[in-house]
Amino acid sequence: MKQEPEGIIALQDITKQFEDGKVVLNDINLNIKRGEFVTLLGPSGCGKTTLLRIIAGFENPTAGKVFLNGEDITAVPPHKRPMNTVFQKYALFPHLDVYENVAFGLKLKHEKTADIDRQVVDALHLVGLDGFEDRNINSLSGGQQQRVAIARAVVNKPEVLLLDEPLSALDLKLRKEMQLELMRMHKELGITFIFVTHDQEEALTMSDTVVVMNDGVIQQQGTPKFIYEEPVNTFVADFIGESNIIEGKMLADYKVQFFGKDVECVDKGFAEGQPIHVIIRPEDIKLSKNMEVGIWHGKVLESIYKGIHYEMMIEVAPGCVLQCQNYVNFEPGSECSVDILPTDLHVIARNE
Ligand code: ATP
Repeated sequence: MKQEPEGIIALQDITKQFEDGKVVLNDINLNIKRGEFVTLLGPSGCGKTTLLRIIAGFENPTAGKVFLNGEDITAVPPHKRPMNTVFQKYALFPHLDVYENVAFGLKLKHEKTADIDRQVVDALHLVGLDGFEDRNINSLSGGQQQRVAIARAVVNKPEVLLLDEPLSALDLKLRKEMQLELMRMHKELGITFIFVTHDQEEALTMSDTVVVMNDGVIQQQGTPKFIYEEPVNTFVADFIGESNIIEGKMLADYKVQFFGKDVECVDKGFAEGQPIHVIIRPEDIKLSKNMEVGIWHGKVLESIYKGIHYEMMIEVAPGCVLQCQNYVNFEPGSECSVDILPTDLHVIARNE
């Protein structure tokens, strides 16, 4: 659907087909608000990086337009766009020290030495590398190198910072630390961040808005909470967090049938008998030893300790298995009741 070019960045009907004929982006429409932290999220090869490169100007769209503050910049070269990119591989100059790496862009602009010095000190302070000016790039850890890459990007005072999987080369602990650091920097700088990742947890943690992509198409966009709680299709439900995705049919407004039971829900507006998918998050399923309650009687097939909770597979009818999370362990082979609140079911139409 065509959108007006609102916000700091607007993408209108963007399509990208490479020389080999493959269409990797298909009619992308997206408006990004000034100051927003937006994440492009999707599996490897879905077109996230290509879209980021089109925003940056490194790649031309086959069709469609890119707007900056309402102005068509589709033909504007990258160095004339007020944007900087932080790449997955830090792309630092190994023969230059930290100062020279960060100062590089400012020197190209022939700024005064005293101004450059001040801006480099400020940028290194922002990324937590005070006093690192004279350090050799090769003497830095991966995390420190990525901080230098961020300092080098923000020192140019871009309106938009583009980040292409900047944390994926870091180990888990460092990645989590850097996620918080990036969120702090985003707040401090007040500029627009467009972040690319295939890690759904990273996207949910950091973003104001998540844009879920698959096969070159935007599947859904919204706040992390909205995307998690109201997935529009089975792809999003499956990709974002864990989900039980179950085939069923709608009996009437607020009543759905699946796994052999008529179950209350909060969804309406479907045709009677319409095939649907029911989406249920494992943490929303309530298990109890009290067999007087619940929708189903289930048998525990499997229980695995996951640190905070147990992950269990519960068979509620022959061949009908629910993945559940529970703080209390029920032994495999034992029985329990299984309940789901109407608000914890999410119903979406199924194309037959
Ligand atoms: P990843 O997370 O693995 O980086 P991605 O979602 O960022 O994936 P892209 O890098 O945008 O995906 O690639 C999308 C598709 O376009 C892939 O199938 C890729 O092989 C293809 N592609 C990217 N660049 C080119 C190119 N220059 N020529 C031909 N095909 C390309």
